[in-house]
Amino acid sequence: MPNVANCKKCGTLFLQTSKRDICDKCFEEQNKLVNEINSYVINANEPTIFLDDLLKKFNLKIDEFESLYLAGKFVKVSQKVTMKCAKCGNIVPIANKTNMLCSACAKKLQNEI
Ligand SMILES: [Zn+2]
Ligand SMILES: [Zn+2]
Repeated sequence: MPNVANCKKCGTLFLQTSKRDICDKCFEEQNKLVNEINSYVINANEPTIFLDDLLKKFNLKIDEFESLYLAGKFVKVSQKVTMKCAKCGNIVPIANKTNMLCSACAKKLQNEI
């Protein structure tokens, strides 16, 4: 039996027919945004784009970006979008990071535990 749930994004009640926790309208908007971001990055003249600039341009929060990224929406552009490692400050492609750290720091941290 389908559930009625509150959309996690806009709060509207909607019929939950899958695991998705946002309504159809928000889902559509999200897909549109993902497509826009992907084509923006792919068509950009710069070799790399800083994640902060991308978020600012599309008015997106970092945790929204993260969850979309983890859902595999930005695989195509993950070598071109870069971020600053929270630990060493190196600029690395988001494809090479774990959480907010570059893969080198993430590895180091894992070895320390
Ligand atoms: Zn919604
Ligand atoms: Zn690092």
